[in-house]
Amino acid sequence: MSDPQSVSKPIASRHALRNVRAFRRTLLNWFARYGADYPWRKTRDPYAILVSEIMLQQTTIGSVIQNRRFERFLDTFPDLHSLADAPERDLLRAWEGLGYYNRIRNLQGAAQSILTEHEGVFPATPDGLESLPGVGRYTAGAVASFAFNYPAPIVDANVSRLLSRLFDWREQIQTSGSQTRLWSWAGQLLDCDQPRPFNSALMELGQTFCTPRSPACPRCPVRDFCLTREPEKLPRKRTRRAPVRVDEHVLFVQKRNGPVLLAQEEGTRRKGLWRLPERSHHQLSDFPLLGTRNYGITHHKVTMHIYRCSPSQLPPQEKKTTEKFHSSREIIDLPMPSPFRKALHSLLQA
Ligand code: SF4
Repeated sequence: MSDPQSVSKPIASRHALRNVRAFRRTLLNWFARYGADYPWRKTRDPYAILVSEIMLQQTTIGSVIQNRRFERFLDTFPDLHSLADAPERDLLRAWEGLGYYNRIRNLQGAAQSILTEHEGVFPATPDGLESLPGVGRYTAGAVASFAFNYPAPIVDANVSRLLSRLFDWREQIQTSGSQTRLWSWAGQLLDCDQPRPFNSALMELGQTFCTPRSPACPRCPVRDFCLTREPEKLPRKRTRRAPVRVDEHVLFVQKRNGPVLLAQEEGTRRKGLWRLPERSHHQLSDFPLLGTRNYGITHHKVTMHIYRCSPSQLPPQEKKTTEKFHSSREIIDLPMPSPFRKALHSLLQA
């Protein structure tokens, strides 16, 4: 890949940063003093860094840290081989609670691809990394810079917000023109001698000071460089569509000696996971309602209605899926979406 600073287009003067070198120095000094000590920043192992990047794609840092998700995952799958060879059930169980299960399937695909197509050698450039399943431009830049100190820019949601304010960019940021502009700025600002700490610093500044709703401008270490006067109005984004409300009607069917009936998901989103079996509202209207639970899943707000049913009254399935009784011991090891894990936990305690 060519030097990102040499390929970037010139910045229009209204958006020109006063002194790029001073900006880099200020940002790096701040980060050296105050940068967070996240577990994935203590390693240069590209496998561990790829795991952290995929894990953090749709999960907050706070949740990953608080639940030691990164460390626990690496305890279970410490290297490429252990991940590449893992049965799907173990993978899904290890990813439980993080959601977006395609991420773990792609991560396993990436491990398999490195072992088979790259002879076990981790790609060290953004181009090589982007050839792996589930690795896009941001993740490739992050792994290249964090693991190999390769001078690749990165633009994630935090960096987009920070750059749009820093350069006072008032266009909608989702357009391809704006994306080109943001990546170009990230390339021009990048300190090619220290891409690893520089990219971490940029992300952390966006995450801690240049926050979406209340940017901490008076305390911001780069406030003297920042061109916007109206940070709260930036970045400009397309209005989000309202979440769709959905009701699902599920059964709690338990045999006398304890086993519970569970169904295995097919679809694409949660394929392979186990959950309470579902039927139509019409089929369940005469069964006693045990309770309701709400949860969110990609643009949907779901209300789960749970009905009690005896094994002999089980209504027929409208669409054939695998349904099986499992003992409470087996349930512990089954991969299950967390709303169902929580519901089942309360039902079994009651
Ligand atoms: S001065 Fe404010 S708007 Fe500018 S980068 Fe810092 S926190 Fe963001």
